[in-house]
Parts: sequence; C-alpha cells; structure tokens
Amino acid sequence: MAEARRRVGPKRDRIRPIIDRLAVEHADARIALNFANPLELLVSVMLSAQTTDVNVNRVTETLFRKYRRPEDYLAVPVEELERDIYATGFYRQKAKSLRGTMRMLVEEYGSEVPTDFDALLRLPGVARKTANVVAAERGDPQGIVVDTHVRRLSQRLGFTREEDPVKIERDLVKLVPRSDWARFPHLLIWHGRRVCDARRPACERCVVSDLCPSSRVG
Ligand code: SF4
Repeated sequence: MAEARRRVGPKRDRIRPIIDRLAVEHADARIALNFANPLELLVSVMLSAQTTDVNVNRVTETLFRKYRRPEDYLAVPVEELERDIYATGFYRQKAKSLRGTMRMLVEEYGSEVPTDFDALLRLPGVARKTANVVAAERGDPQGIVVDTHVRRLSQRLGFTREEDPVKIERDLVKLVPRSDWARFPHLLIWHGRRVCDARRPACERCVVSDLCPSSRVG
C-alpha cells in the first residue's frame, strides 16, 4: 500500500482531479431522498437511519400529505405516527425522536427548521450526520457527511486511515475544498454504488483508477 501511495502521489494533489472527474462521471449525483421543503428534508433524513432511501421515499409519499406542519406530528396519538412510519423500521424510536423534534420546533423555533447548525444538533434524535445532510442540502454545509460509501471510498482513495466516521470527517474537511463539501459525499456515494462496489470494485472502468492507491489495474 505504501508503494501504491507513492505511485499516485500526495492526496492534496489528487483531490482536485478526483472531484472533477467524478463530477463529470456522476453529473446526476444528488441526495436520493424526496422532499419539498426543509421540514420534509429533516423528517426524511431522520427516517433514513438504518434503512434505504427508496424505502423512506415510499413512506414519505403518503406521510407528507398527512403531516404538513410540525404541529401535525403532535396532533395524533403516538401509536398513529408509529403506524405511519412503521415501514422505515425502528419506528418506536423514530416516532419518539420526531415528536421531540417537532415539539422543540414549535416551542423554540416558531415551527420552522432552524438554519443554525448547533440549533439543528439540539433537536432530539438529530445526530451530526443528520444535521450535516440538512445543512448541506440547504446550501450551508458545516461538515462532510460520512456514510458507509464515503468511509469505504475515502479509505480506498487514501484520503484517510481512520475507521471512526467523526475522525474520517475531520480528515476530509482538511482536504476537500469547502465549496465542495456538499456535493463531495454524493459523488463518493454514487461512485460507490455504480463502480467502487464494497466486494467487487470495477477498477478497470473507474475514471480515477490512475489516482487511486487501491486500484487493481496495472
Ligand atoms: S480504482 Fe478501484 S478501488 Fe479505486 S476508486 Fe476506482 S473502483 Fe474504487
């Protein structure tokens, strides 16, 4: 690996061309959750824990017709909300988080989703990853979202040696230009899904193969 890292050169020189090439290759890379406003974005991201975006979209298609304002989530018995989000899994915990968050939105933020990152982090059940996704999608990224694809690709591309998502994010924010913080995870996620598979990376058709220390080509 050390030899491979020497071959491709320092990560500071590779990050720009890697982002640019992936941006061309995956010009359609965007968040896969469907939402029409900040509240729907926040709810979708909260529901997406431990399940797929496709599954969340299936549930929110009807959910968002019924629950339009934070008050709506508090107006029904918790069992009804649990039923409505059941298919996303972990429905008891998610319903509890949703109601806690909605109560705080109503009582402290005039029923609006706050734009301030620290305020987002205060919402019950909103962890750093959720706050990062919401902030990035609203055009004010405060960090870099690290999911399983971002972790795997960052390691393979030699951007980090860490395993812990918080430490990986710390490495990435030092390396990735701030103007790319929002789209960077989407590029890695889509590249991970389409090319750099967890078990069988398709290095022979990878556009950053010559810049990747883990490439199996050549
Ligand atoms: S060269 Fe292979 S390991 Fe490296 S990013 Fe491309 S597909 Fe993944």
